[in-house]
Amino acid sequence: MRKIIHVDMDSFFASVEQRDFPQYRRKPLVVGGNSPRAVVAAASYEARKYGIHSAMPMARALQKCPHLIITPHRSAVYKEVSEHIQAIFHEYTDLVEPLSLDEAYLDVTEPKKGLPSASLIAKEIKNEIRKRENLIASAGVSYNKFLAKIASDMDKPDGFYLIKPDDAEAFLKDLKIGLFFGVGKKTEAKMHQLGIFKGEDLKRLTLPELMRYFGKNGRYFYDVVRGIDERPVLPSRVRKSIGAERTYQTDIYDLGHVEIKLAEVVDVMWERSLAKKKQGRTVTLKLRYANFVTITRSHSQNRPFTKAEILSTLMALLPHDAIRQNGVRLLGATMTNFYDEDQTLPRQLKIDF
Ligand SMILES: [Mg+2]
Repeated sequence: MRKIIHVDMDSFFASVEQRDFPQYRRKPLVVGGNSPRAVVAAASYEARKYGIHSAMPMARALQKCPHLIITPHRSAVYKEVSEHIQAIFHEYTDLVEPLSLDEAYLDVTEPKKGLPSASLIAKEIKNEIRKRENLIASAGVSYNKFLAKIASDMDKPDGFYLIKPDDAEAFLKDLKIGLFFGVGKKTEAKMHQLGIFKGEDLKRLTLPELMRYFGKNGRYFYDVVRGIDERPVLPSRVRKSIGAERTYQTDIYDLGHVEIKLAEVVDVMWERSLAKKKQGRTVTLKLRYANFVTITRSHSQNRPFTKAEILSTLMALLPHDAIRQNGVRLLGATMTNFYDEDQTLPRQLKIDF
């Protein structure tokens, strides 16, 4: 039986700001830009009491709380703190799979340090994060990634929650379907239409029914509601993509103007790829229209793209009519499928049950 911990920092960016600037403590604060088009990147717990949450337009957040403190996004600082936290994880296991700057799965089935249980390790990690970084984390412990991730959300902030193998099915039976990891707003609505509100409702559907309603996700839902998730924790220290994107103050309808802006975004991405010494064989264009509909289009080749090739490829992917019709709010470019990655694919783990 594996022992998996999911660690999730509480209100990460906002907590770093409140830690570094004492005048912000115990106050409603959000991290994000303050242009009229900006959105909330993170909200402190005090701000959440006003109904403010991440991805909310800043203008709306200010309506809800006029004395809201808005601080700029200090990416370099968050990244550095994240590296410190990752270093703590690595003291306990090398099987660390980061999901973002502030979240990771740890497989502590065979930990490096001699603590007798996964729960004790999780609590010690929380303590070390508090002691060394002066930040609060929540941890979930279970025997697979799905349950560990749900567990870390059960008792936030400063949470600890353990789902033991024998308790998993009973726990899932009563769990609201929206709290299942992998069920987004759209899927939740669809499940409600199908009369699925809790785990026990989901469990009543057969595998063929689930596959019919949810495609390949049907198999995933069928398994996880039975407490089955065999996905290994994959340590991924390899950077998987390099990109850049820009949101514009006013929507752009002119194609020539879009091309100029795209060239600027490619410049930024290219500089980043040079700094990381990475060359991708897939390039992706991201485009968000004024109505917030977002599309991505990719192109791959079997050797790394030059800068000129990236630019001409992305230009060719621009949907001319849709741009003239809808206007562009955001442009992004991403490079993936790096040249040196084939040889360093993470090893599949043998899982013992
Ligand atoms: Mg978090």
